[in-house]
Amino acid sequence: MSTLIQAIRGMNDILPEETPRWQQLEATLRDWLMAYGYQEIRTPIIEQASLFSRAIGEVTDIVEKEMYAFTDALNGEQLALRPEGTAACVRAVVQHNLLYQSARRLWYTGPMFRHERPQKGRYRQFHQVGIESLGYAEPEMDAEHIVMSADLWQRLGLSGIALELNTLGDSEARARHRIKLIAHLEAHVDQLDEEAHRRLHSNPLRILDSKNPALQSIIEAAPKLYNELDDRALQHFDTVQRILKAHHIDFRVNPRLVRGLDYYNYTVFEWVSDQLGAQGTICAGGRYDTLIEQIGGKPAPACGFAIGIERLLSLLESGGHPVANAGIDVYIVHQGSEAETYAWRVAQRFRQAGLSVIQHCGANNFKSQMKKADASGARFACIIGDQEAAIQQITLKALRTTAAQILCQPEQAVTLITSKGL
Ligand code: ATP
Ligand code: MG
Repeated sequence: MSTLIQAIRGMNDILPEETPRWQQLEATLRDWLMAYGYQEIRTPIIEQASLFSRAIGEVTDIVEKEMYAFTDALNGEQLALRPEGTAACVRAVVQHNLLYQSARRLWYTGPMFRHERPQKGRYRQFHQVGIESLGYAEPEMDAEHIVMSADLWQRLGLSGIALELNTLGDSEARARHRIKLIAHLEAHVDQLDEEAHRRLHSNPLRILDSKNPALQSIIEAAPKLYNELDDRALQHFDTVQRILKAHHIDFRVNPRLVRGLDYYNYTVFEWVSDQLGAQGTICAGGRYDTLIEQIGGKPAPACGFAIGIERLLSLLESGGHPVANAGIDVYIVHQGSEAETYAWRVAQRFRQAGLSVIQHCGANNFKSQMKKADASGARFACIIGDQEAAIQQITLKALRTTAAQILCQPEQAVTLITSKGL
């Protein structure tokens, strides 16, 4: 016997029992994005690998360790499965000159790929929904994103999600801070772990994000980026905070929030739940004013965020949020060749009337067909024998109530089923 081929580790099948929850969330997300005037953009799942190393940064977890990069065996091109959505979105905006006439509010959703150690809330194929506002420099847009995400938690009936906020200033402030930070870390070089050693000169800001307990006192004592911020950065951050306060959105300024992608400047934020263990961040984003130029476009400011859909679903599930089940309206039971021909016609008539219909397939007797009708969850069985077919009528039987079955025309059945009276 050949061995069974299984799905790739960390890449999940979403089974029929789970898809209603996904669909319900996706519908809520679409309504929410529409309510704020965002337009959907869809980009390919595979891109040139260099897009991500250029956008996200060479010395980041994603590009160094997590990216599914490969050589196209047919033409030798260096490609990658997208690890996130922003780089591709910006690439498409630049390629199609979408900022030519006006700024844009965009959204995307779909699978992302990162070669991480699979665990609850961390997968190798996972899904994100994200938004990007391109061509907006004002702090009001940073605030719009945060207000919008807070609104989503409310629409979903979620609570206990905390907002962490920070500002990374502009590149000059980061350059000044970087020099001081490296000097501080070099003074403690013998206490640094291997990763910190490696990042000391390539990406020292990321060392501040280290979870290694041995590094915490060095990190605490490190020079603060905040002290390097100029007036413009401080004012930008103040405006964001003022708008959040006006909306009664609580937040904590966390100077250690630096984010794992290089493209951020000014505002960065994360929404964190305490109900998901170590994988508690459900939404993260910020401003990236230099990325568009970095990808080859005309300089334009922008900001955005992404939500991890699996983590959001897991929060909804643990909160016992009900899933609305659309369900099957009618299961058509038939026996005899005249009956079968008529059953096909009735099924289509029902479907044209907007009903969800399963027509029995196979040569089972009435009794076992009725069992299948019951197991399908359908609200009604429509029973057609040759007798019914001869007079072009059907027997309608309610499966979830004790209402008596009736012999009627298909049109009458539609009225009865849609009136929900039975
Ligand atoms: P983490 O710190 O958890 O690794 P991240 O900073 O790498 O997250 P982002 O790149 O900001 O994550 O992605 C935005 C969101 O996408 C995260 O907040 C999270 O909800 C989700 N996400 C990221 N990586 C994964 C993954 N491997 N599996 C499931 N969800 C993920
Ligand atoms: Mg990560």
